[in-house]
Amino acid sequence: AKNAGRNGYRFYEAAMNARIADQLALEMDLREALENNALHLHFQPQFTLNEARLVGAEVLLRWNHPVHGPISPARFIPVAEETGLILPLGAWVLRQACQQWRIWHEAGLNPPPLAVNLSAAQFQASGLPEEVAAVLAETGMPATSLELELTETIVAEDAERAETTMHRLADLGIHLSIDDFGTGYSSLAYLRRFPLHKLKIDQSFVRELANAGGSDVIVIAIIQLGKALGLTVIAEGVETPAQRDFLHQQGCDEVQGYLFGRPIPADQFTALLGTPAPA
Ligand code: C2E
Ligand code: CA
Ligand code: CA
Ligand code: CA
Repeated sequence: AKNAGRNGYRFYEAAMNARIADQLALEMDLREALENNALHLHFQPQFTLNEARLVGAEVLLRWNHPVHGPISPARFIPVAEETGLILPLGAWVLRQACQQWRIWHEAGLNPPPLAVNLSAAQFQASGLPEEVAAVLAETGMPATSLELELTETIVAEDAERAETTMHRLADLGIHLSIDDFGTGYSSLAYLRRFPLHKLKIDQSFVRELANAGGSDVIVIAIIQLGKALGLTVIAEGVETPAQRDFLHQQGCDEVQGYLFGRPIPADQFTALLGTPAPA
């Protein structure tokens, strides 16, 4: 029994070391990808439910690893966050997104506002408002065409500081939204205090719509709450006409999801500019 225990421990230790080695390798590869421009952005369209008008695009980071192929941001963003690489990585995403907006604009294509995801470390780093202002000035993208998606955790950690940073960002003219709304620890009080523009209903609630489990009630409550506070409400992860119809009935303003369009590279997104929604 003692031996088995020891082997069990050894096995555990080996597995741990392998995991750490994996993370390290991933981090090194990611650093290299950032330096060598091996990362790219995808854009996922957002539409109004009423008129099916294209009103935005979420910017999503993509990494095609030379050996392992495409790696999900759900896997590499946490590694970047743990190692601090998220700061240069996030800065790259922001600049790249603004540059792309500018390219579309120069081509006379009237691009919608772009929503860029922000990690907690980026939000908490001093100088974020200045960095954003500099990128906007450099790329000539109007502040009103940039939206930053924040999560509830960012907000929950140091509400006072978060409030100051948000006001400095909002004063630039950019829009702020709360991503994955309803999944994090949150105090409803901040919804009134913070200069927010939009709530994004998390896709876990949307997925459960029409299943027994109470998500219908939660989605209805989030829509009502958002409306009462004068915020735009968008649902993400919309995959079926039934989900769309329910959200429409409940007065949800906007939608994003595979039903309407997957995240696609910039050159493909160009084809969407100026066209009505497919669903
Ligand atoms: P998120 O911000 O919640 O982004 C939405 C995710 O849902 C994206 O996954 C998107 O591709 C996916 N999605 C969109 N529509 C549907 C749908 O109808 N059904 C389903 N099942 N999924 C849908 P993705 O691109 O894999 O990104 C995963 C997460 O990685 C993001 O979740 C975000 O937290 C993070 N992420 C991605 N890009 C960035 C970035 O540039 N910076 C930061 N900080 N995080 C990023
Ligand atoms: Ca997001
Ligand atoms: Ca989300
Ligand atoms: Ca998420």
